[in-house]
Amino acid sequence: MSTSALALGIRNGDRRALGRAITLAESSRPEDREAVEQLLALLAPATGAAHRVALTGPPGAGKSTLLDALGAAALARGGNVAVLAIDPASAISGGSLLGDALRMPRLAASERVFLRSSSNAGTLGGTAPGTRESVLLCEAAGFRLVLIETVGVGQAEQAVRDVCDTLVLLALAGAGDEIQGIKRGLLEVADAVLVNKADGAGQAAAHAFADDMRHALALLRPGSPPHVGVVSARTEQGVSELLEWLTQHAARLTASGELQRQRQRQLSRAFRAALSRALLARLVTDTRASALLGQLEAEVAAGQRLPTAAARELTNALFTSWPARP
Ligand code: GDP
Repeated sequence: MSTSALALGIRNGDRRALGRAITLAESSRPEDREAVEQLLALLAPATGAAHRVALTGPPGAGKSTLLDALGAAALARGGNVAVLAIDPASAISGGSLLGDALRMPRLAASERVFLRSSSNAGTLGGTAPGTRESVLLCEAAGFRLVLIETVGVGQAEQAVRDVCDTLVLLALAGAGDEIQGIKRGLLEVADAVLVNKADGAGQAAAHAFADDMRHALALLRPGSPPHVGVVSARTEQGVSELLEWLTQHAARLTASGELQRQRQRQLSRAFRAALSRALLARLVTDTRASALLGQLEAEVAAGQRLPTAAARELTNALFTSWPARP
């Protein structure tokens, strides 16, 4: 299928076209990269309109259950929803479609929902290669709420932060070492912390934990404490409040100009990250550079040269005949 036909399919809301494009976005093959870059150039005017929400938290926190409830609430308001679920590489199987139907039955059954599970393929931070582009593709297909589900155990919280406008951390009372059990890095960047399973016997503990969390976060982030609340994904207590809070958060971000600034910062960081990957890849494939790289690596390993000095020597060699930019 040509790139322009694929673009047209996506604009028309064709799920298969969208799925195919996301597969391209997740691929690292040079020809797929080229295709998706062309595609996104065509679709650029149609992107940017969604509220991008990431939901992160440890396995078992209730992310899928909450997404199903939250998505259903959004559908009830007449919206449409795209869900990008990022599985840890080991957890994904060929049967992920069945998995989605089980994990998010109402969303899987709706025609106004696009559900996609992706493997994070060993990248840090719980995002998959191509997550940023997948979000753009969903926007071009007309989705106005994009929910990104990730397991919050990556090493780079920034990676999740950088693909969303609003980051929601789902926590459980009494899971591990109370507040210390939740990654501090995530607490530093989350817009909201929700304590799930505030139902039945767990209700009091969830409320107490939320109070502790509120106090801890007021100290950790005195200028900008995140929203803290309790929810029960199972009984759906607090779910419509969450949807309302998300809507208001998006409105505040837009009105203050922070949405635009945040997305600009995200793009700059994505560019820097892509640049360092491209430079390293180029170093390895360029015959002269890779020869020098191998030589320096051996010298560093043998203790003959400091790592920083070797890195400087290589970069100096690369940039000596740098032409002036016209
Ligand atoms: P995930 O790994 O974060 O996606 O968690 P799941 O959504 O798969 O939920 C893990 C388990 O917790 C499942 O057995 C759910 O039924 C249960 N669960 C999820 N939300 C709630 C809740 O609000 N209350 C209670 N009691 N159980 C829940």
